[in-house]
Amino acid sequence: MTVRSGIGYDSHRFADGGPLLLGGVQIPAAVHLVGHSDGDAVAHAITDAVLGAAGLGDIGAMFADTDAANRGRDSLEMLRAAAARVRDRGFAPQQVDVTVIVEEPRIEGYRAEMAVALAAALGIAPDAVNVKGKSNEGMGWIGRREGLAVIAVATVVAGPSGR
Ligand code: MG
Repeated sequence: MTVRSGIGYDSHRFADGGPLLLGGVQIPAAVHLVGHSDGDAVAHAITDAVLGAAGLGDIGAMFADTDAANRGRDSLEMLRAAAARVRDRGFAPQQVDVTVIVEEPRIEGYRAEMAVALAAALGIAPDAVNVKGKSNEGMGWIGRREGLAVIAVATVVAGPSGR
């Protein structure tokens, strides 16, 4: 069995007014993420991770931010489409681990709900998706609450096509 891993990173700037859409969950907050799509940086980082694991490039190649059709786009739907493309190439998404680096809001209370939403988009079990929150200890642009960053790692295995 061939196991492959991919990494994804994303960051988005905050703007005034909540809620904060993250990992497919509407979190009560004073800010939201600015983006061409719906700005869900967790979904974007995971999309890049699963595409990377399968050697399929990145989210920007699949959903160009110059394409008006992608304006305000549902990022979970983008993740679902990426997972489908990965399967088409003969790989099955297995597991995802995510770290959200943010000062506030704290995401601890929303991790389980995010895992359920993300796992549904990926077509895997919720316990195969792990979401963690970390503060940046007040340092830099994250510490100044200008935005947040997300790092994700995904693993896929070769499917029956034997790739
Ligand atoms: Mg993004």
